[in-house]
Amino acid sequence: MKQFAPAAAAVAFQITACLAEELLPVQIRAPTVAHFSEIVANNTLDFGCRPITHPTSDGKFELQALLTRDQISWLHGEYSRDESVTIQETVLDKRQTSGKAPIGTGDRFGGGSVAPSGLGTKDSGTTISSILNVNEINSAITGLANAYPGAFFKYSLPYTTFQGRTSVAAYTGAGADTSKYRLYLSAGMHARERGGPDNLIYWVSDLLAANKSGSGLTYGSKSYTNAQVKSVLNAGIVLFPLVNPDGVVYDQSSGSLWRKNRNTRSGTSGSSIGVDLNRNFNFLWNFRKFFSSSVSPASTSPSSEAFYGTAAESEQETKNHVSVYDKFPGIRWFMDIHSAAGTILYSWGDDVNQSTDPKMNFLNATYDGKRGVTSDTAYKEYIPSADAAAIKRAADATVAGMRAVGSRSYVSQQAVGLYPTSGASDDYAFSRFWAKPGVNKVYGFTMEFGYSTNFYPTTTEFNRNILDTNAGFMEWALTAVAVGLQ
Ligand SMILES: [Zn+2]
Repeated sequence: MKQFAPAAAAVAFQITACLAEELLPVQIRAPTVAHFSEIVANNTLDFGCRPITHPTSDGKFELQALLTRDQISWLHGEYSRDESVTIQETVLDKRQTSGKAPIGTGDRFGGGSVAPSGLGTKDSGTTISSILNVNEINSAITGLANAYPGAFFKYSLPYTTFQGRTSVAAYTGAGADTSKYRLYLSAGMHARERGGPDNLIYWVSDLLAANKSGSGLTYGSKSYTNAQVKSVLNAGIVLFPLVNPDGVVYDQSSGSLWRKNRNTRSGTSGSSIGVDLNRNFNFLWNFRKFFSSSVSPASTSPSSEAFYGTAAESEQETKNHVSVYDKFPGIRWFMDIHSAAGTILYSWGDDVNQSTDPKMNFLNATYDGKRGVTSDTAYKEYIPSADAAAIKRAADATVAGMRAVGSRSYVSQQAVGLYPTSGASDDYAFSRFWAKPGVNKVYGFTMEFGYSTNFYPTTTEFNRNILDTNAGFMEWALTAVAVGLQ
């Protein structure tokens, strides 16, 4: 394969992106993950939340991407001399709505007079017919606050979004004392990942309903007792279901597979609008300084889907997300809900883990310019062995719970996978303990629910995703309780 990503090709992509925005799900198969390394370094391509490879049943590896027709043609050219690599595209018009779960119209919760009700407390086979619109996400939270006074608390986050929206979060299970909350879950950071906020809201609705009625919960073939429900609630749950309301409003109205927020300070048209919030957190944010020049864990280009913003935490949405740790200083476990790769990711995401050299860590300037190359030994990120064991245990349990529902398979893997990321929410969560002396240690996870590169699920998939994720949240929370909340 010839050298990848010449400047002319990158320019061509940006031009064609304006002319032919249509993105097609593409599966690239190769005998080793190393076959993908040069492609992934081209950060004008869209690999979803993070470039992730899956082993296939025939012993190969598969990389998912969303590409325009011109990008696909270019890719075929790049791999034309390597017969071991196959490129398969899925013919799918993203504007085609047939089979896709619709976005709800109106407000099914009547401005908060009706509380949402999840699938875990309903008869098997019950389904939810549409995805929550942005107004409904907020009225669902109001509905829970009204239905469970003194047990479910909603509050407004301090920073209004670029378009002036106020974001809402909530906490439940551990009473009014915000220092007693140990679990933090967020969703809706990448706008196009439909169903993320729904998964979280319906799960918490299930917990509250089961707690009140003295019943358990059932998700497909997986069941939980009332005692387990109470155990999870007692841990104290903070939920921030819609981190990026501006982006979701735009995506739901345009069907454009929009990922970033809608900040226009760095670009005012098309794909140049917006910052990737999951590259904007204060963890090795300035990747040009901290990482090897051979990798691109984010992008400095506003037109990239992975545009990192103008500073660490430059975005209001990121600031809101971080503010939760200040309001709830006892948070010990964090999960960010994304789609659509079918994985549970655990720390770290900047390089391969090592537990032998504490001095080789993300704060040590000696290693600036060396991080992120997963195939070398010049740098590996330090993680204490007890922490490594605890987070792997929780990730594996979460996957086992999701599989046990019976819909499909999931895998757990270290977040770095094939390729590093900078400025991600899960790494930020875990890094705080070392970067900010005196704060709690937080284990950070990313759940990638759903079916590969399918950000707009069908109605069937949308409902399966609710069942799968809700069992996953139960296992994750129960493991957190078992491992320790202090
Ligand atoms: Zn995502």
